[in-house]
Amino acid sequence: MSQAPDRSPLQAVKGMNDILPPDSARWEWFEDCARRVMQRYRYAAIRTPIVEPTALFVRGIGEVTDIVEKEMYSFEDSMNGDRLTLRPEGTAGVVRAAVEHSLLYDGGKRLYYLGAMFRHERPQKGRYRQFHQVGVEALGFAGPDVDAEVILMCRMLWRELGLVEGRDLWLELNSLGQPAERQLHRAALIEHFERHADLLDADAKRRLHSNPLRILDSKNAAMQPVIEAAPKLADCLGAESLAHFDAVRSMLDAAGLPYRVNPRLVRGLDYYNHTVFEWVSDRFGAPLTVGGGGRYDGLVEQLGGKPAPGVGWGLGVERLLLLLEVAGVVVPPPVPDAYAVLPDAAALPQALPVLEALRALGVSVQMHAAGRDGQGSMKSQFKKADASGARYALVFGADELAQGMVAVKPLRTEGQPVPQELRPIVEAGVWGGELLRS
Ligand code: ATP
Ligand code: MG
Repeated sequence: MSQAPDRSPLQAVKGMNDILPPDSARWEWFEDCARRVMQRYRYAAIRTPIVEPTALFVRGIGEVTDIVEKEMYSFEDSMNGDRLTLRPEGTAGVVRAAVEHSLLYDGGKRLYYLGAMFRHERPQKGRYRQFHQVGVEALGFAGPDVDAEVILMCRMLWRELGLVEGRDLWLELNSLGQPAERQLHRAALIEHFERHADLLDADAKRRLHSNPLRILDSKNAAMQPVIEAAPKLADCLGAESLAHFDAVRSMLDAAGLPYRVNPRLVRGLDYYNHTVFEWVSDRFGAPLTVGGGGRYDGLVEQLGGKPAPGVGWGLGVERLLLLLEVAGVVVPPPVPDAYAVLPDAAALPQALPVLEALRALGVSVQMHAAGRDGQGSMKSQFKKADASGARYALVFGADELAQGMVAVKPLRTEGQPVPQELRPIVEAGVWGGELLRS
């Protein structure tokens, strides 16, 4: 007995979303804005594979990070046993590609990407298992000028999107200095907390030697004084690190971009040094980070390249789209310039070339499509024309066609300007289809 085929409906993987119309238009609008900004700053697109060797992220992100310890989608290639991972972030892949193809042989490169990332997290609003990032990486530039450049690009993007910095989101900034300075800070922290061991709770005592930085995050009110008095990383920074940070700050000041220096800002990935920053919004109730980045001068070498500095950021597209919603930014829905009303299917041989000619001129035309029962009444066609949001109905009636004409009926009195190509038809009210074909 043969088994009945399984026809039960299938569902997307939990935490991975379909992006459907009309929402997909908001995505495209966002992506257009982002690309426009990147191109203004002369960043070039790079597209790297979604699947990479697992070792890339273990080496690139750091073994003791949330991402590598518990969030990666890793699997074995069943064909050859290779250990592979769906990329959880964009930087490691971009740096791998830059090294593999010697992109830096003739100087620095400014790159951007847009794409899906994967992390095995508990799905909730603004947190998914497949999500999207737009990011930039400026490789081969050591100076603080490019730190300032990449930060200012974000502000340009906010403006392009209609977000207002200061109202919808703000910049937090810190310097992590150099690894040796962080070691110094760590030793100073251990010494400080050992000296005050009697003031530490059990958690802090346990972390004292494994991860003393974590003690600084403690929510225990009784420990706040001893935490306040702990040595600050800023006090361990040498002259070079301080000069780099001061230079970034004064360039942001000069550009009129306010920021909050947050000495607790460390970022989740191991590879950062010097400048780190995050864009934070409190439009969601509680503060939420929409993106961040910083300088990572050791990463290229760590991934097998000749030492070269880097600085970049990554922004979460889903979180930015949510922010646009709560900030009340209206994304213009895409509407056709015209809707072709076709009372009789017999009009199609004459109408189709006219529609094609209009589209070739850049006019967007939605054609009324026949149903099972034919073209449908004029009334129902006009209803659809109206619902489409089109500014004009092009009516291919028998009388008009007999004269080689098309009737143009405005559907909206207000709205956007008439596209250049439609102007002659609109001004005349009628338009010779014949003329178009020549
Ligand atoms: P969080 O602290 O919220 O987990 P993160 O530090 O892990 O963020 P990054 O690795 O810095 O995030 O990624 C940059 C941005 O990508 C985040 O600010 C956020 O906007 C977005 N992002 C990160 N993880 C997710 C996710 N699981 N779903 C949706 N967006 C995400
Ligand atoms: Mg995270």
